[in-house]
Amino acid sequence: MNLTWEPITLDLKTTFRIAHGSSDQRFNVLVHLDEGVGEAPAVAYYGETQQVILDYLKTVPDLGDDPFDIDATLAKLPTHGSRAARAAIDVALHDLWGKRLGQPLYRLFGLNPLHLPQTTFTIAMDEPEIMAERAKESGYPLLKIKLGGEQDEAMVAAIRRATDARLRVDANAGWTRSQALELIPRLAGYGLELVEQPLAKDDIEGLRWLKDKLHAQGSTVPIFADESAQTSRDVAKLAGAVDGIVVKTMKTLGLRDGLRTIHTARAHDMQIMLSCMVETSVGVTAAAHLAPLCDYVDLDGPLLIKNDPYQGLRYNGANLTLPDAPGIGVTRN
Ligand code: MG
Repeated sequence: MNLTWEPITLDLKTTFRIAHGSSDQRFNVLVHLDEGVGEAPAVAYYGETQQVILDYLKTVPDLGDDPFDIDATLAKLPTHGSRAARAAIDVALHDLWGKRLGQPLYRLFGLNPLHLPQTTFTIAMDEPEIMAERAKESGYPLLKIKLGGEQDEAMVAAIRRATDARLRVDANAGWTRSQALELIPRLAGYGLELVEQPLAKDDIEGLRWLKDKLHAQGSTVPIFADESAQTSRDVAKLAGAVDGIVVKTMKTLGLRDGLRTIHTARAHDMQIMLSCMVETSVGVTAAAHLAPLCDYVDLDGPLLIKNDPYQGLRYNGANLTLPDAPGIGVTRN
């Protein structure tokens, strides 16, 4: 199997500001394995840049010629360096597997493509009134609000005044324990469906403390771990500390461990949100093949980009339709 790659520059529709930083452009890398394609998103928070991804790809040995021996092929990948690149190769291999078998991935996974939860649309951090305007303009019935700054309550209040959409919030590890304990019940008053990553990535005991305190106060807002939950190996230690986890193929090194993460979380009675980085239709459509297994979906990456090089997952407002072409099912624009 022949591995090649293609750096891409993505222009964002609006400046993307979250608790970790802000950006107008993203520099991802498309990875091709014969006719299979995958995407490595460069996410600074995880130490991924386009250069780190390209440097890793240059170290990948010959992956052999059998796209049906997926685990053995992935075992050949160097285990240090860009996780995004490894995720992209995993996705390209799954795409190739599906194409050679002539079937879409959801069918090979035994999943029903009609059972897709609706997706949220993300409102990045800005002045509260600007966020409220974007929320209203989007027309989305389901919004994910990025928080983790000084004006968190003002942001949620302004959006609540502007729309009756269902709201989820993501603090991106931006709160201390005491801030979270004080803010979450206040924000819950605006009708939140869930709170993502209130505390620092490594503060698992803090998440457990927070959940117990909130439950003791009668709060029923589910708490989800995103940054704290990278791969299937992180699930067990989060059991009991959070109500659910956020799965992204870039964190799980692709679809293989994405599936494993979902099943491990289910075995611990946890809920699952499927999400993405700022990714094109390649990365997001690949992830969407796991959506029938998930409770919540946050796959708006292509909606944030002006120059998506591919098309795949289709959006009708918040309703998603998976393509039925073989593999991940994307086509080049
Ligand atoms: Mg998140």
